[in-house]
Amino acid sequence: MKLIHSFLCLLALLISPAFLHAAQVQYVVQVSLDGLGAKYLENYLSNAPAQFPNFVRLVQLSASTMNARCDFDISETIPNHTTIFTGRPVLQPTNQANTVHHGYNNNFPGATDTVHAQGNPYVPYKSSFFDIAHDYGLSTALYSGKARLLMLDRSYDAVNGAADLVDADNGKDKIDYASVGDVSGTSISNEVNSLIANLSSATPYRYSFIHIAEPDITGHSAGWGSANWSNAVRNVDTQLGRIIDVITTNSVLSNATALIVSADHGGGGVTANAHTEAYHIKNYTIPFFLWAPKVPANSDVYALFANRGNPGTNRLDYNAVPQPLRNADGSNLALGLLGLPPIPGSSTLPILGGTNVQMNVARALDGAYTAWWPATASAFVLETSPAFAASAEWAEITNGIINNGGMFVYSFTNSPTDAKFYRLRKR
Ligand SMILES: [Zn+2]
Repeated sequence: MKLIHSFLCLLALLISPAFLHAAQVQYVVQVSLDGLGAKYLENYLSNAPAQFPNFVRLVQLSASTMNARCDFDISETIPNHTTIFTGRPVLQPTNQANTVHHGYNNNFPGATDTVHAQGNPYVPYKSSFFDIAHDYGLSTALYSGKARLLMLDRSYDAVNGAADLVDADNGKDKIDYASVGDVSGTSISNEVNSLIANLSSATPYRYSFIHIAEPDITGHSAGWGSANWSNAVRNVDTQLGRIIDVITTNSVLSNATALIVSADHGGGGVTANAHTEAYHIKNYTIPFFLWAPKVPANSDVYALFANRGNPGTNRLDYNAVPQPLRNADGSNLALGLLGLPPIPGSSTLPILGGTNVQMNVARALDGAYTAWWPATASAFVLETSPAFAASAEWAEITNGIINNGGMFVYSFTNSPTDAKFYRLRKR
């Protein structure tokens, strides 16, 4: 019965369902490497891996990509970090509600600015990943290598943070420990010292976020991709190695920690010393690493998510389906791995379980068939073939798929004499 086989083959993509349900961590260390453009890093790791041993090590440990994205409109530090904190685009995306974006598009914040008061007025309070972690009782820490990130620390402090309405009241200050100041050159080891000291202890902060400014600072002074810049990245590599080491050696953290490493933006796109133009591939292309228990080592991070697809060389806006993986995805990803809900109002929501998508099929009395699968699996394409074989010619179906109540639905006819096979394939 050929038709039955055709539907069994729909399940052929179920490879790692265990990951979806079992991945949970107790600790998160989220690292933002300012200005670390992936176009350069990818080249370094291909051509001079011995000079970047800890990035190589992280690639081997983690699921990663050298093709993630910053915000669509803006490739600057403070707006992108606000996006990472809130899970919201910087500006209102075309055809989307005026309550979607955070609206803080000032890379040089005023001395009393908050994302709430100076950002999108239609969202009086913009929650962050620190809100969720803190309100659910987890200790939190922020280490920043730029004083300008004080705007974010201030937005979630004892004055400006929202009341904690989740179980016990842990106060309005969402960030238990904050070290925010300008740190550059060899001093970045001092910034990382603070993180390492805490991560070496018996009671590390449950959610640590560290921003390292150096790739950006050297990019502005010496040019992205210059010899000085690659040396700055080697300096960062050394610091990254210390972070990997402490997660490995502290038994409290080992096998209980997610390390997420990405960047706010790249650089050197139009001019060698800047990154203002969000339309340039060197500015919008950033790396993304996820190292966590049960995450397949040395793998493509795009394979983990049902609604994230590798964008190739494209710069995709917030209406594109599927979305590329963005720097801000790290925050809701981290919360999910901690077993916590996503940031309220956020829209950067990567869905884990990328290979675990099931298509259902029903046959009506008139002989017509209907197939349906979750609309969250937006990174999958429906394909058809006259034969069921790896070597068969599979053609993508682009017409006739409708989104009906959270499900993609496709109707078709089939007959025993002219049977076709159908499958979902991850883009
Ligand atoms: Zn910069």
